[in-house]
Amino acid sequence: MLLIKKRIENLRKKLDIWSKEYYENDDPSVSDLEYDGVYNELLELEKKYPEYYDSNSITQKIGGKIDNRFKKNKHKFPMLSLGNAFNKEDILKFDKQIKEALHIQKDISYIVEYKIDGLSISIKYKNGKFLKAITRGDGFEGEDVSHNVVVIKDIPKIIEYKNELEVRGEIYMTNKIFKELNKKGLNFANPRNAASGTIRQLNSNIAQKRNLSAFLYSIPNPLDHNLKSQNKIITFLNKNGIKTNQKTFLLKNINEVIKKVEEMFKNRNKLEYLVDGIVIKVNNINLWEDIGSTIKFPKYMIAYKFPEEIAETKLLDIFPSVGRTGRITYNAKLSPVRLAGTIVKAATLHNAEYIEELNLNIGDIVKVKKAGDIIPKVLGIKIKNNNKKWKRNINCPSCNSILIVESGFVDQYCENKNCIQKKISTFEHFVSKNATNIEGFSSETLKTFIKQNLIIDIPSIFELKNKKEKILKLPGWKEKSLNNLLLGIEKSKNLTLDKFIFSLGIRYIGSKNSKILAKRLGSLNNLINSNLKTLESIRDIGDKVANSLILFFKDKKNQELIKKLINLGVNIQKMKIPKSNIFTNLTFVITGTLTKPRKHFMDIIESYNGNVSNLITSKTDYLLVGKNVGNKLLKAKELNISILNEKQFNEKIKEKNE
Ligand code: NAD
Repeated sequence: MLLIKKRIENLRKKLDIWSKEYYENDDPSVSDLEYDGVYNELLELEKKYPEYYDSNSITQKIGGKIDNRFKKNKHKFPMLSLGNAFNKEDILKFDKQIKEALHIQKDISYIVEYKIDGLSISIKYKNGKFLKAITRGDGFEGEDVSHNVVVIKDIPKIIEYKNELEVRGEIYMTNKIFKELNKKGLNFANPRNAASGTIRQLNSNIAQKRNLSAFLYSIPNPLDHNLKSQNKIITFLNKNGIKTNQKTFLLKNINEVIKKVEEMFKNRNKLEYLVDGIVIKVNNINLWEDIGSTIKFPKYMIAYKFPEEIAETKLLDIFPSVGRTGRITYNAKLSPVRLAGTIVKAATLHNAEYIEELNLNIGDIVKVKKAGDIIPKVLGIKIKNNNKKWKRNINCPSCNSILIVESGFVDQYCENKNCIQKKISTFEHFVSKNATNIEGFSSETLKTFIKQNLIIDIPSIFELKNKKEKILKLPGWKEKSLNNLLLGIEKSKNLTLDKFIFSLGIRYIGSKNSKILAKRLGSLNNLINSNLKTLESIRDIGDKVANSLILFFKDKKNQELIKKLINLGVNIQKMKIPKSNIFTNLTFVITGTLTKPRKHFMDIIESYNGNVSNLITSKTDYLLVGKNVGNKLLKAKELNISILNEKQFNEKIKEKNE
């Protein structure tokens, strides 16, 4: 039993992290199908073991956290998620359950629409005029992103209908624009993330430039507008000039739906936009209330999710590349194959050990997966054509120095500080989205600038403004494009501490560790002056990371680099430093109804340098309890965790501060 509990906890933790990456950072690390697989495993376990119910589980929540940079706006009607179907049987079950709920046997008519892979939006009109646009947020409250939605050409600013109206739909980026932007150096994993990242910008000039699109498909209170079917909603929207997807079909019964779904699935790759499934909706709105909803999704519609695509193709070559930290990644050159709407010619093979374990070699027929739009991956061998053993590189593919594997690790590293490819990758990292986010610096531009000696080190990026004449002589550069690039460079000079730490490209310091360090230490000086003991005392920073930081800041060259950047005007914003450190390394979980919103207590705990988590584990230090507590209290008792009510919590602060 304890094993099951642990499994459930682990799955919840994993999904919480992925969900944050997806909804809040627009930067998923796993494919939707991988996410869905783990999500469904959790769902099954929660169904089978209801004793482990937790209102904080991801299965009880919609979407992500609200971004505080935007004005919050409560939804009059919750914006729900959708239940999932993965095969024909699931679709038939959906129809069966509806008939059971309605106590009928006759055919139900359905509308099927493509499930657009973008982000949901709610748009309000008043007196026929665009009033505001709100994201789905956590389903109950969203972010006001009117400034970015109003610039989308598909959204009419004036409509004929004069009553107050809320319309919902999806904002997306076409594949064509996504490709163009990525060529220019905007690094998003897929069009969905690009659309979501654009809508959540403070400056609407960016949305204007990125040319987003929209399809609207729903009205949350259709009966108030005398619209009695989904079909009528679509006609009504069209009449008012509100863009709907023309590939929307009305079908008489579930068998027709299944046929249509098969046809739409076949045609999905011909679309100009990304879709991740097909939504099947009961057409007659009068039936919706009787069919009902769960807290997370309506039961009168369902999303059929497309299966994962796997292609088979010939492995033409295996070649290594060297990253900014010197780590060697192996890549596969593939015989071009169509997969998930694009032609795939390359895939990642991770490291030498991965290739050796799969026993791959050039000439083999391999299975390739392109889950979501994340980099394709070689899964394994389909037909073994080459029985010779593949040999890993011993030398760096760029500078030829001997590669090193640290004991206990699998990755090979080039340790040569002057390796040219490492330099290129370093600059790419420095200008990337999670670092200084300098727009307009594609890999091609960087390569040219390095070749022309325009960029020799990181500070020289900020000195490009003095080299305008030379740049303008290069092919493809005009006054306007150069000014845009220089403007982007100037803007990037103001950056938060976590982004600055990340931009330095220190080994083992990714985005997550940068955030932890910035939050705990507050300023660059504090970080530079920290000793090994201080760093290791930070929760989640282990000795490997701490040692890497010490080595980095001890190096005179790195000290010089930071000094130079600051002299060139790089302005690192300090983080809010904790009031005191009384809760350093302590993790709190909050449960039940307290006298003030949960956020109030979270802020207090964080202001004293503590952590707040959703899950009770053996690492939890305190459970703060309010009224109407549930399972968490039991769990805390089971694990012997200190329990505090609000009064005791306040006393603890007083006592610790004395
Ligand atoms: P969902 O994507 O399964 O479906 C709900 C959404 O579909 C609606 O809110 C709506 O915005 C959208 N939609 C698009 N076209 C529609 C149409 N024609 N009619 C109605 N709705 C339409 O649910 P979700 O809650 O947005 O997200 C959950 C999914 O997101 C997961 O199943 C997973 O695939 C993905 N996800 C992936 C990761 C990751 O790390 N890769 C993390 C979190 C979530």
